[in-house]
Amino acid sequence: MLGLLRAAGHAIVPDVGQARGVLVNTCGFIADAAQEGVNAILRYADMRAQGRLDALVVTGCLAQRYRGEMMDEIPEIDALVGTGDFGAVVEAFNRVEHGEKPSYIGEPGWLAPEGTPRVVSTPKHYAYVKVSEGCSNRCSYCLIPSLRGPQVDRKSEAIVAEVERLAAQGVVEAILVAQDTTAYGRSLYGKPSLAGLLREVCSVPGIEWVRVLYTYPSLISEELIDVFASEPKLLPYMDIPMQHGSDRILRAMRRQITRQGMIDVCNKLRRRIPGLVIRTSLIVGFPGETDEDFTDLMTFIDEIRPERAGVFVFSPEEGTPAADLPDQIAPSLARERRGIAMERLAQISRQFGESRIGSIQRVLVDGPSSESELLCVARSYAEAPDVDGSVYVGDATLRAGQFVDVRITDAVEYDIAGEPLEPIAEV
Ligand code: SF4
Repeated sequence: MLGLLRAAGHAIVPDVGQARGVLVNTCGFIADAAQEGVNAILRYADMRAQGRLDALVVTGCLAQRYRGEMMDEIPEIDALVGTGDFGAVVEAFNRVEHGEKPSYIGEPGWLAPEGTPRVVSTPKHYAYVKVSEGCSNRCSYCLIPSLRGPQVDRKSEAIVAEVERLAAQGVVEAILVAQDTTAYGRSLYGKPSLAGLLREVCSVPGIEWVRVLYTYPSLISEELIDVFASEPKLLPYMDIPMQHGSDRILRAMRRQITRQGMIDVCNKLRRRIPGLVIRTSLIVGFPGETDEDFTDLMTFIDEIRPERAGVFVFSPEEGTPAADLPDQIAPSLARERRGIAMERLAQISRQFGESRIGSIQRVLVDGPSSESELLCVARSYAEAPDVDGSVYVGDATLRAGQFVDVRITDAVEYDIAGEPLEPIAEV
């Protein structure tokens, strides 16, 4: 959307105080995320009411989900753009400029036409690359398929061409994302084709690291493991949402794999991919979750020992089958379970950090540290941006985008620290 707006002559400014119009891109799949979006909209609605903005356009899942009521509830909103209509964003602003209040909400599901201009909003040395839109799974707690439509995939040539363009702009780490990256290719090629895509992306000159997020455990094939085991640019970091460790709950969630199936996959991955770091996400407080189910989850955590993890409290979303299930769990109990699980996972993360003390890790510098002017923050293969911790490096002169080898000296729960050896590359 930023790319389309810029190509149409709009300037993108870093500070809302300089802007005449605001586009709020929202997430709406659980209540907390929706609340965050509403808070942002209300902030800009105030500015709109005070005449400090000429246009307030709301897009994304929240607009799609609450299309019927959003403009009535917050009349300062000038236009809505749904998840199937991102291409209409320029027209939306133009019509607002002419005094209209348009709403573009059709069926969800939009794949950017190839060659759509892009503005990369991450730091210059890494970028997310979306390989598919939507999701064809039907997890019983999840609104995403109804907000984003079934999975549609981008052609591999188009993805590779985008990665080449990003590399030419200085990106060295490409992070492939989708709702379910392992299903990539089904809509186009009739079968999951992530392995082939990864080989192609890894062959792009200038790209040094390739990271993949959101892999569905039942679709981790031998072929995919082979690529992870053999492709040096593909980071040995697997983000595998597992959601629970009790088969009863997994069935109620309509996940397509069992507890043992996930344990087997993880064991196989750890055997085949040296140094593998596993990230997962888990949900506690799913309807009907008994003490026994929760114990199953805790023993599952001990079996998998994911180095990275997030635990979420179940959020009953209207329109999902899980919201109507009996035996909803009290939020206080769910929060208590989350605390217990997080404590165990933090311990595992710290033990992993401690096991790295004394080792030499190649890191990619993200920039100066906000905690100390003597340090910079960086990430190794084991830390994805935004979701994981950092590697603090004792040299503030290093610049964002540099690779450097670091001897690890300290570890706390989620972060590690070390001293640099010689810088090895520069963007
Ligand atoms: S795979 Fe992920 S996005 Fe798709 S339905 Fe399940 S939880 Fe939602």
